[in-house]
Parts: sequence; C-alpha cells; structure tokens
Amino acid sequence: MARLRNQLIVLLLAATLLPLAATVWWAASLLELSLRYSAAADLDATSRTLERVGREFYQRSRESLKSDAVAGRLAPQRYRASERAGWPEAVLEFWDSAQPERFRTASPKGSRLEYMQRHAGEVLVWSSSLEPVAMEEIAEQIRQARRTAEAASARGLRRGFTLLFLLLVLTTWAAPLALLVYFATRVSRPIHALTEALTQVASGRQGVRIGIERRDEVGQAIRAFNHMAEELEQQRSRLVYLTQLASWQTLARKMAHELKNSLTPIRLTMEELLARQDQAGGEFTRQAAEIVAEEVAALERRVRAFSQFAAEPPVRPEALDLRAIVEERVRLLSNGHPEVSYELRLAGELPPAWADPDLVRGILTNLLENAAEAAGPGGRVLVTGKPADGKIILEVHDSGPGLSEHARQTLFEPTISFKKTGMGLGLSIARKSALLCGGDILLVEGELGGAGFRVVLPSHVSQPSPDR
Ligand code: ADP
Repeated sequence: MARLRNQLIVLLLAATLLPLAATVWWAASLLELSLRYSAAADLDATSRTLERVGREFYQRSRESLKSDAVAGRLAPQRYRASERAGWPEAVLEFWDSAQPERFRTASPKGSRLEYMQRHAGEVLVWSSSLEPVAMEEIAEQIRQARRTAEAASARGLRRGFTLLFLLLVLTTWAAPLALLVYFATRVSRPIHALTEALTQVASGRQGVRIGIERRDEVGQAIRAFNHMAEELEQQRSRLVYLTQLASWQTLARKMAHELKNSLTPIRLTMEELLARQDQAGGEFTRQAAEIVAEEVAALERRVRAFSQFAAEPPVRPEALDLRAIVEERVRLLSNGHPEVSYELRLAGELPPAWADPDLVRGILTNLLENAAEAAGPGGRVLVTGKPADGKIILEVHDSGPGLSEHARQTLFEPTISFKKTGMGLGLSIARKSALLCGGDILLVEGELGGAGFRVVLPSHVSQPSPDR
C-alpha cells in the first residue's frame, strides 16, 4: 500500500495541471475579449471618418445644387401660395419658418437633396439625386457604430482586463498553494508526533502511544511505532521480572541448602529415637515422633519446591503440538477434579509452537490446577488457543471467584505458603518457564467470570532455523 506516494503524485499533478489548464482557459477567454475590444476601437475610428466624409459630401452637394439653381442650370418646382392646400408638409413648414432658404434630404432614405427658396407668393424647390449615397441611412449606421464603440469603451475594458487577469492569476496560484499547505500539514503533523514520541521513548517514557489513525505509509509507521513501544514495555517488564527472579532464586537456593542441612540430622535422629524407644511411655514418644516426621516431610517437600524454583534447567525447545499437550493435561486434570467440567476451544489451524515440552507441561499443569481448584465442584474451566502475530496464544479461564486486586499485584511474585496443597511458587515458576521459552504469562479478563491467564509462546514457523 503506497497511499502517501499516490496522494503526493495526485497532488503534484493537480498542483501543476490545474493552474496550467486554468491559465490556458483564462488566457484564451481574455484574448477573445481583447480582440473584441480592439474591433470596437477600430469601429469607433471608422465611424468618425465616415461621419467626416459624409458631412463633406453633403456640404459639397449643397453648394453644387445652389450654384446650379442660381445659374438657372436646373428648373425648380414651383409651389404657389394660392395652391397652399396641396403643399407637402416640408414646404409648408419652410413657409411658416420665415427663413429665406433651406436645404433638406428627402426620401427614399435621404438619397435626394432639396433646396428651397422663398419668393413673393411662392416657394421654389430644386432637387438633385445623391445616389448611390443615402444620407439618412449613413447617418443611422454611423450612430449605430458610435453607440457600439461607446458601449465598449464605457465598460472600462482595459482596466477590467488587468484587474480580472490579476485576480485570475492570484486564484490560480492561491488554490494549489492552499492545497499544498493542507497536504504538507497533513503529512508533517503525524511525523512530528512520531518524532516527539520517539524522543520520549528514547528518554525512558515507554508508556507513550500515538493515537492518530491513518491508512497510508505514515499510518503504517505509527502502527509500527505503537507496536514497538508496546513490545519494548513488555520486554522491560520481563527483564525486571527476570532480574528479581534471579535474586529470589539465590535466596531460595541458600534457604533450601540451610534447611536441608538441619532437616536431614533431625529426621535421622527421630528415626533413631523411634527405633530405640522402650515400651513404657512409648506411645507418647511414638506419636510425638510421628508428628515431627510428618512436619519434616512437609518441610522437605517445600525445600524441593525451593530447589526447583532456584534450579535453572537447560531449555530444549522443539516444535510442539499444543493441541495434543493441552488435551493430555486436561485429561490428567479431569481425573483429579472430576467434579469440574472442561471445555476446549482450539483454533483448527493451530501451528506448532517452539518451546520446551517439559516447561510447557509444567505451565499448563499449574494454570489448570489453579483454575480447577478455583472453579470448585460444578464449576467450569475453559482452554482456548489461537495463532496471533507469529505467536501462539493459549488462555485458561475458570468460573471461580477471580482474583482480588492485591492478588493481581503480587501474583507472579514468589511467596512462601504453608497451605497443605500449594507452595505459593507455582505461578512464578510457570512465568519463569514461559520466559525461558521466549514467551510470557499475563493476566487477562476472565471469560467465565473468574480468573483468566494468557500464555504466549513463540510459533514454530516464526523461528529462524539453520537447516531451513
Ligand atoms: P500455589 O502453588 O500456592 O497454587 P500459585 O503461584 O500457583 O501457588 O498461586 C498463587 C495464588 O494465586 C493461589 O494460592 C491462589 O490464591 C491464587 N490463584 C492462582 N490461580 C487462581 C485462580 N485461577 N483463581 C483464583 N485464585 C487463583
């Protein structure tokens, strides 16, 4: 899974292609607009020239018509005052205006020029054709062109273009920048947390974990870190336990030795005493001697337990079929505690463990014995087994009363118990055995309401072997 790499590639593509595409698009649109703008400017200039030419042409046509009229080269149309009722509108208006003369363009579309003169009792009108020029049509076209050009320049296009261009460039640049800043923060924040946590672990704070959930490479690194910190913490507690165990063992060895030194002569003397006793008053001596012999035997059992605890047997790991060992231990136990019901829940695919068979048997015997005793008549004991993370996890649960807080704290510490049955060393020997095999024993939440113990053992497949 290379999510971060893919994200970075997509980000880089987005950060380069998006602005490129946007710039091309905007540049094309602006070009189009500016072309339109320059056409409007041309139109403005052309319309002004045309207006000047039109005005000049009209002026000359007027002069030429007037000189033709005055020289008598053209015959006028006469409108007599006596026939006023039949006059056209333009003539009537001229008559009423009291002006001496007037020029005007006439239809169609202003392609004729008329020259009107006032005389006593009549109006003379000369006319000439302006064809193919139609003055009114030209004036209308010029007005239209001017309107278009004015509308274009009124928009302040040049300033608008500049502003728009700046704005577009800014947004084109700012959007990918914001995207980059967002991703940079997203990537750097967990790396920062990781560095911080690593520094703390290096300075001895092993309880540090990172609570950021991610599915990319950074997330993988965080999970690896959390796993490593967890392992380190467990290794450290194992190391501390083994160091404590070493001093407890030295003490146990010395005590066993001293006790044995005294116990052996006591036992021998008592045996001698029993052999030599006379009959009178012998009953009391015999009973006393038996009590002492019993106590000595019990003390000797304890000494043996101490010796076992203090002993460091060679560890001979091999590939172990845990299912077979668990079934065998449960069978043996059910003979001793037939009033308890047993349930096995072992995963179908349980790979072989890599451990010393005698040590594993010892561990299971201790845990199962404790569980059966705690469960009592009618109680239940459950054994589960499954592979996990290159290890094999066995658990023993019982329906007993569970463990008090005090018992939990000191469970794996060796104690000297004077109960008939236990020595108080069983769990420390079991944990030592598990540690010697490269595993451990932990207390877990009980599934049957009572105590729950987890045994972790290395899996055979995860062991590096010289012949493989
Ligand atoms: P012992 O040899 O005396 O059984 P262990 O180290 O095996 O010594 O056990 C120590 C003590 O822990 C036991 O005496 C018992 O009080 C407690 N204990 C162990 N297992 C269980 C259990 N499954 N349920 C309740 N208490 C337990």
